Amino acid sequence: MNDTEKRILRIIDDNAPRLQALADDLFTHPEQGWYETRTAAVAAGFLQSLGLNVRTGLAVTGLRASVGTGKGPNIALIGELDALKCPDHPASRNGYAHSCGHYAQMVCLLGAALALSDPEVASSLDGTATFFAVPAEEFQDAPLRELMRREHDVHCGGGKCELLRRGAFDDSDMALTAHSHMVGRDSGADLLLGNSASTGFVGKTVTIRGVASHAAASPDRGVNALNAACLGLSALGMIRETFREADCVRVHPVIREGGQAINVVPSRAVVEMQVRANKIPVIGEISEKVNNCFRGAALAIGCTAEIEDAQGYLPCPEILPTPLMFETAALLGDCDVRSIPVGVCNTASTDVGDLCAVMPVMNFTFGGSVGALHTADYAVTDPYVAHILPAKMMALLAYRLLRDGAAAAKDYIAGYSPAMSLEEYKAYCRRMSP
Ligand SMILES: [Zn+2]
Repeated sequence: MNDTEKRILRIIDDNAPRLQALADDLFTHPEQGWYETRTAAVAAGFLQSLGLNVRTGLAVTGLRASVGTGKGPNIALIGELDALKCPDHPASRNGYAHSCGHYAQMVCLLGAALALSDPEVASSLDGTATFFAVPAEEFQDAPLRELMRREHDVHCGGGKCELLRRGAFDDSDMALTAHSHMVGRDSGADLLLGNSASTGFVGKTVTIRGVASHAAASPDRGVNALNAACLGLSALGMIRETFREADCVRVHPVIREGGQAINVVPSRAVVEMQVRANKIPVIGEISEKVNNCFRGAALAIGCTAEIEDAQGYLPCPEILPTPLMFETAALLGDCDVRSIPVGVCNTASTDVGDLCAVMPVMNFTFGGSVGALHTADYAVTDPYVAHILPAKMMALLAYRLLRDGAAAAKDYIAGYSPAMSLEEYKAYCRRMSP
C-alpha cells in the first residue's frame, strides 16, 4: 500500500462519524424518485463543503462534481438518490423507504469524494473522477411517468436513461457503481466484486375499453372491460409455460383501474406491467405474446385494447471482476471479499444496464444488511460494512484506475465493447420515448 492509499483510508476512517451521521440522516429521509430534493440538497451541500463546484438540476434532481487533472479518462462514480414505495418498512416516511439501500450508495459516493478531493490525492489522479448522484433508479409507474413528461420533459422511466438521453454522461469514459448485495445477498460476503447479469424490460400499459351500463338493471347492454382484463390475465397465466428458464422471463401485472362504481359495468380497465427478460429480442418476443393475450381477451368480450409500451431498462451483461478489483479490495484489511457467482442472472432490472450498454462499468456490491431488497425486512446490521467499507473501496478503485497515467482505466476501457454508442443510445430513446 502506498502513501496515497494510506491517506485515502485514513481520511475515510477519520470521517467515519460524519459519514455514519450522514447515513442516518439519509436513511430517515427517504424520497420518491424524481422528487429527491432534500437528498440532492444534502449531497450538493456535502460536495460544496469539500470545495467542489457542483452542477445541480441534471434530469430534475441529479447533480455532479469533479476532481482531478482533467487530462485522462473521466470516471463517473455513481450513487442513487431515490427510495421506493414501501409503506410497511419501519423507517418509511410518506410511504417511502430506503429498502433498496440507495442511501448507502450516497454515503459510499460522498465518502469517496471526501478522500479523492483531498488536494494531495486529487493531484495524483491522471484523469477525472466525477461524483454523480442520479435520480429515480426505480422505474416509475405510468401516471408518474406521464406527469414527469408534462412537467419536466422527462422522457425515460429511469434516471440514468434520462441523463444519458440528455447528454449528462457525454464526457464519461467509464462508470463505477455499487449496490447493496442483490444476487447472493445471503453469501455472507462483505464485498462481492463484479456485476451479475440482470434482466431488462419494457413497461406496458393496457387500456381496455368497453361500455358502461347499470350493473343490475341492464348488464346485457354493457361491455365489461374488467372481465376482459381478467381474461387477459388468465391468458397470460396460460402462456407462462412457454417462457424458457434460460431467458429469465418475468411478467408481473397489476390492475391499475377496474371500474369506478360497483353498480356500473366497468367501461374501462387498465393493466400495467413490466415484461422482463435477459435478452433484448426475447423481451420483444414475450411482449408480443402478452399483447396477444390482451388483444384476444378484448376481442372475446367485445372490448378494445390499447397497448402502450414504454422504454424500460436494458439487460445488464455479466461483468466479471478484474485482478485490479481484488488487489484493491486486499487493501481493505480483514474483510470477506468474493467474486459474484458466475452465470447467475439477477431477474430484477436496473438502469445500470443502460450505462453498461454505452460505456464500461465496474461494479461491486456490499453486505452489512439483512432482509430482502424492496421489503420491510431490509435493515442494516453492520454500519461499517454497509457505509464505510464501500466508500473506501470506491475511492481506492478510482485512485488505482487513474494513477500512473490512468493506465488501468485506459486498459479497462480498451477491453470493453459497449453494445452501442451514445448517439445510438439517444436514437434508441427517440424511438422508444419520442
Ligand atoms: Zn436498487
